[in-house]
Amino acid sequence: MMSPLRTQASRRALQSCCCRSRPVLSHHATQFLPAQSRSFHHPSYSPADRKDFDRKVQELGKITPVPENAKIAIVGAGLTGLTTAYYLAKDLPPGCKIVIYDGQNRVGGWIRSETHSVDVGGTKSQVLFERGPRAISPGDALHGQQDRLVLYDLLLNHGLVAYPGRSNLARYIYSPQGHLVNLSGLRLDPSVFDEPIYRLMLKGGLWWALKWRFRRPGWFPNDDVSLGEYVERASGSRRLVDDVASAGVHGIWGGDIDKISAMSALGLHFQTANMSYWQANDLGLRVTEQKFAADFLQERPYVKAMYAMKPPALVNFGKFGLESLPIALADSLKSDSRVETRLGNSINSIEYDPAEKKVKITDSNKNTEVYDKVISTTSGQHANQMTGGKLESLQDSHSVDIMTVNLWYPQGTLVPSGLGYLIPKSCPPELNPERALGVFFDSNVAEQQQKQEGGTKVFVLMGGHQYDGMEAPSEAQAIEQAKTLLHRHLGIPVDLPCYAVSKLAKGCLPQHHVGHHRRMARLSNELIDKFENRLALIGGSYSRPGVASALRAGFDMAHTITQYNFNDNGVSRFSHGEVSDPYFPLGEKEYLERNFQSG
Ligand SMILES: Cc1cc2nc3c(=O)[nH]c(=O)nc-3n(C[C@H](O)[C@H](O)[C@H](O)COP(=O)(O)OP(=O)(O)OC[C@H]3O[C@@H](n4cnc5c(N)ncnc54)[C@H](O)[C@@H]3O)c2cc1C
Repeated sequence: MMSPLRTQASRRALQSCCCRSRPVLSHHATQFLPAQSRSFHHPSYSPADRKDFDRKVQELGKITPVPENAKIAIVGAGLTGLTTAYYLAKDLPPGCKIVIYDGQNRVGGWIRSETHSVDVGGTKSQVLFERGPRAISPGDALHGQQDRLVLYDLLLNHGLVAYPGRSNLARYIYSPQGHLVNLSGLRLDPSVFDEPIYRLMLKGGLWWALKWRFRRPGWFPNDDVSLGEYVERASGSRRLVDDVASAGVHGIWGGDIDKISAMSALGLHFQTANMSYWQANDLGLRVTEQKFAADFLQERPYVKAMYAMKPPALVNFGKFGLESLPIALADSLKSDSRVETRLGNSINSIEYDPAEKKVKITDSNKNTEVYDKVISTTSGQHANQMTGGKLESLQDSHSVDIMTVNLWYPQGTLVPSGLGYLIPKSCPPELNPERALGVFFDSNVAEQQQKQEGGTKVFVLMGGHQYDGMEAPSEAQAIEQAKTLLHRHLGIPVDLPCYAVSKLAKGCLPQHHVGHHRRMARLSNELIDKFENRLALIGGSYSRPGVASALRAGFDMAHTITQYNFNDNGVSRFSHGEVSDPYFPLGEKEYLERNFQSG
C-alpha cells in the first residue's frame, strides 16, 4: 500500500503531466505551509510584504495568455536560446516580437565545429575539430527524459542528417594503477578478478543492486547529499567512488563527485530510492514524461517513425559537425520577420519596472530596451551579474573552466579502438600532473569521416574542478601538457609531429552542488518577488547540462509560456513537484521562513 503522502505525490506528478508550468503555484503558499508560518513579522518585511508575496504567488500561478503584441528578449544565442526562439516563433501570435542577444559575434555558444586545413610533414588533410561538445546522447535512461523528441523534431524540420555514433565502441577508465581498463570488457569469467577496478565494480554493483531490489526506507539517502556519499552508501565502497564513479563525473560535469548533488545527478533514481520496489514502479514521474512524449508525438506525427527506432547512444553530424544544428536554427529564424538576432551585443543589466510590468535591459553600448518578458539562457553567474545581485540564490552559482586541446596526427593507429577514457579523482598526481579529466578518440567515432580525414584525432580535456582556486595554464602550455599526457598514458611520442589547437573554456560547465534543488526553489520565489516572473531563467545552470537538455529546456520554456502561463519563470517546477516528497512544499516555505519570521 502506498502511504497517503506518496499517493498524493504520485497523483500530483500525474496531474502535472507535460506542462511543468501548470498553475499549481497558486495553492502552494497556503495549502502546504505549516499553520505557524501563516502569520509573520520581520524587521524589514512587514505583514504587508508577506501579503504582497502571497498575492504575487496566487496571481502568477494562474493561466496567463501571451499579452497582445508581446515583446520578448532572449539573452544567449546558444542552443537553449535558439531552440526557445524557434518554438516561440512557431506558436506566438502575429504582432509579437522576439529579439535574441548574444555577446559573441556568432551563434552556438559552446558548440563550435571548425574545419582546419592541416599539413603535418607533408601529409595534408581537411580535419573537423569539435572544440566543445562532439556528440549528443539522445537517450537519458537515468532521468527517464524524452528529450530526444525535440532533437528529432529539429532534425526533421531543418533537413539535417545526423548519424548514429558507433555506440558499441569500448569506453575506458584510466586506473589509479596506471593503465587503461576497458569497461565494456567486463565479463563473468575468473580473469575479471585480476583487475582491481572490475573487482570493485562487481562487488559494489552487486551490493547496490541487492539493496535496490529489496530496499527499505533509510537504506538510501532521502535528503540531498553529494554523489560521492550516495554512491558510497549505496555500494558500501569508497573506492568505487574514487576509482570509478568520480571518472564519470569528470566526463559529464568536469566536477568533483564529493560536491555534485546526488539529487540532481541521479534524478529519477534518487527520487525512487526510498520507495519500495513496487511503489517506485508505480510512481507517476515516469508517466509525466510518457505524457510529454504522447502529446509531442500527437502534435508532430512525422517524428513517430524516428522515435520508434532504438535510440542510438550517440548522434553526430558528420563532416559539418554539431554546429550545423545552431546554424540551421539561426537560418530558419532569419526568415521570420518577427525575430531579430543581435550578435556582438552583450547584456549588462536587467531591471524590472513593477508599475509598468516591463523588464528593461541595457546592453554594453548602454542602449536600453523594454520587454514584456526576458528569458535568460546564460549561466547562473552571468544572470547574477546582469540582475545586479538581486537574486540571492544565484550568488553561489559556480561553473568550472575546462582546457580543451584538439590534436591530429597523420598516423592512423595511435589510440586503442574505443571512444576514449576518463580519469578518476584517485589517479595519483605523478600519473596525471596535468589535471586531465579525460581523452576522447575522436577519429574512432565517425567511420566515414575518419576515412576522408585519415590520421588520428584526439581531444584532451583538462581542469574542471581541479582548476578551482588556481590559474589555468596558457593555451600554448596546455598543448605541451596534452602531448606529455598522451605519451605517459598511450605511448604517443611527445615529439611526434602533429597539428594542435587549444582553448580555455571559461565557466563552461555549471555545477549543481549539494542543495541545488533547494536553491532553485528559492530562486523561483525570488523571481516571483523581484521580477514578478517577467524574467525567466533556463539552461544548464538550472536544469541538467548537456546538448539534449538544452534543446528540451528551450522547448519547455516556449511551450509553457505560449500554451499555459506567460508568467512562468523557468524554475517554478523546483518548488512544486520535481523534487521528491519530503521537499515538496520547500520553495515557498523556506523562502517565507527566511524572510518573514513567524510571530
Ligand atoms: C568542452 C565542452 C565539451 C562538451 N561536451 C558535451 C558533449 O559531448 N555532450 C553534451 O551533451 N554536452 C557537452 N557539453 C555541454 C554543452 O556544450 C552545453 O550544455 C550546451 O552547449 C549549452 O548550451 P546553452 O545554449 O545552454 O549555453 P551556452 O552554449 O553557454 O550559450 C549561452 C550563450 O549566452 C551568451 N551570453 C552569456 N552572457 C551573455 C550576456 N550578458 N549577454 C549576451 N549574451 C550572453 C554566450 O555568449 C553564449 O553564446 C560540453 C561543453 C564543453 C564546454
